[in-house]
Amino acid sequence: MAEKSFKYVVVGGGVAAGYAAREFAKQGVKPGELAIISKEAVAPYERPALSKAYLFPEGFARLPGFHCCVGSGGERLLPEWYKEKGIELILSTEIVTADLAAKTLLSAAGEIFKYHNLIIATGSTVIRLTDFGVQGADAKNIFYLREIDDADKLIEVIKAKKNGKCVIVGGGYIGLELGAVMKMNNFDVSMVYPEPWCMPRLFTAGIASFYEGYYANKGIKIIKGTVAVGFTADANGEVKDVKLKDGRVLEADIVVVGVGGRPLTKLFKGQVEEEKGGIKTDGSFKTSVPDVYAVGDVATFPLKLYGEMRRVEHVDHARKSAEQAVKAIKASEDGKPFDEYDYLPYFYSRSFDLSWQFYGDNVGDTVLFGDNNPTSPKPKFGSYWIKDGKVVGAFLEGGNPEENKAIAKIAKLQPPVESLEQLKNEGLSFACKI
Ligand SMILES: Cc1cc2nc3c(=O)[nH]c(=O)nc-3n(C[C@H](O)[C@H](O)[C@H](O)COP(=O)(O)OP(=O)(O)OC[C@H]3O[C@@H](n4cnc5c(N)ncnc54)[C@H](O)[C@@H]3O)c2cc1C
Repeated sequence: MAEKSFKYVVVGGGVAAGYAAREFAKQGVKPGELAIISKEAVAPYERPALSKAYLFPEGFARLPGFHCCVGSGGERLLPEWYKEKGIELILSTEIVTADLAAKTLLSAAGEIFKYHNLIIATGSTVIRLTDFGVQGADAKNIFYLREIDDADKLIEVIKAKKNGKCVIVGGGYIGLELGAVMKMNNFDVSMVYPEPWCMPRLFTAGIASFYEGYYANKGIKIIKGTVAVGFTADANGEVKDVKLKDGRVLEADIVVVGVGGRPLTKLFKGQVEEEKGGIKTDGSFKTSVPDVYAVGDVATFPLKLYGEMRRVEHVDHARKSAEQAVKAIKASEDGKPFDEYDYLPYFYSRSFDLSWQFYGDNVGDTVLFGDNNPTSPKPKFGSYWIKDGKVVGAFLEGGNPEENKAIAKIAKLQPPVESLEQLKNEGLSFACKI
C-alpha cells in the first residue's frame, strides 16, 4: 500500500486549506513539507461564489477565476502555484479513517498518509431531507449546494428545465441566494420555510420584511409557516410536486434545499475533545490532541470579544482561523510568541442588486434605521443590537466601503448608547462619527 509522509497535512481542500497554504508559503514552508488532501477535484476556491456568480445566467464566474485567495483581495493560487512552492495538492482523495494517536490518515483508495502536524479543515456537509425520511426526497432534480460538483449538476438542470418552476426549501443564506439566482435564470420561483420570516437566526422582523418585500416584487412567491413533507416524481423519477404540511401542493421542475449544515467531524469522533458540535480548540486552534489543529467550520474556539466558545460557519473566519493556526504552528516551532486570535464575527450576503454586511453579535435590543422600503430606488438601512447599554452588533444593507468599515468599528469598540431613540434618529451617522 502506498505510504507518504509529510511534516504538515491539511485534510480538506476548501477555503481554510487555501488560506493555510498561502500562510505556510509566507512562513517559508519548504518543498515537500506540506500536503493538502481534498475530496474535491479542484484546488481550493472561494466557496461563497457557488451560490452567487457561479450560477448567473450571464457574466458567470468559473474556475480558475475564484481560486483562493481572491475573495479577500489576495493572490489567486492556481494549481501551478502549489507546484512551484512544492506543496502537494492531493485531489479527488477522500480520507476515510484518521488515527490521531498513530498520526496516520487512510484514503478511500487505500493510500496511507503520515504527518507530524495535522490541520483539520473538513468544513461542513449539508443536512439532507432524506436524513429525516421525508417521503420522495430521493427524487431526481432535488439539489443541495456545498461543492462545485453540486453547482455543476444544478447548472445542467437549469439548462434542461429552461423557464421551469423551482421550489426553494429553506429561508436562510442558501435559500435567499438561490431564490435570487433561479429567478435571474428565469424560473418561476417559490420559497418555503417554517419560520415567521427569513434568516431568523440573524434578521430581525424589520430587516426580513425588506428582503421578503423585495423578493416578492421580483415575482418570487414566499410561503412561510409551513414545511415540505413529501415529493412526488414523474415516470422518469424526476421531481414533479412538493407537498406542504399545510396541504398545499407546489409544482416543481427543480427543488433546491438549503436547510442548514453540519460540521464534518465524524472522522475524529472519540479521539478529540468536542464542544458545541465542533472540535474544541484553544486560541491558536490547537485541539486536545498534540500537533492536531482544527480550523474553519469544524472549530469551536474561544471568541475573546464575548468570552465564550463559539463555532462560526462563515468564510471570513475560515480564512482567518487557518492563518492563525499556521502562524501558531510556526511560532511554536521557533519558540516565538504569537498574537491571540481576537475575532470580530463578520457575515455577508449578496443577491440581485442587494448586498449586506453584519459585524458583531446579534443579541439584546434592536434599533432599525434608514430606508427599508423594498420599492425604494436605492434602499439603504440597517440595524444595531444593543446589550447592557452598548452597541454590540451592526447590520447594513447597501453600504459603501467606508460605511461598512464604520459598522465594523462600532461592533468592535462597543460604544455606550444613551437612548435607543437617539440611536434610531442618528442611524448610520452614529457609526460613521465613531
Ligand atoms: C454555497 C455556499 C455559499 C456560501 N456563502 C457564504 C457567504 O456569502 N458568506 C459567508 O460568510 N459564508 C458563506 N458560506 C460559508 C463558507 O463558504 C464556509 O464557512 C467556508 O467555506 C468554510 O471553510 P472550510 O475550509 O472550513 O470548509 P470548506 O470550504 O467547506 O472546505 C472543506 C473541504 O474539505 C473537504 N473534505 C471534507 N471531508 C473530507 C475528507 N474526509 N477527505 C478529504 N477531503 C474532505 C471538502 O470536500 C472540502 O473541499 C457559503 C457556503 C456555501 C456552501
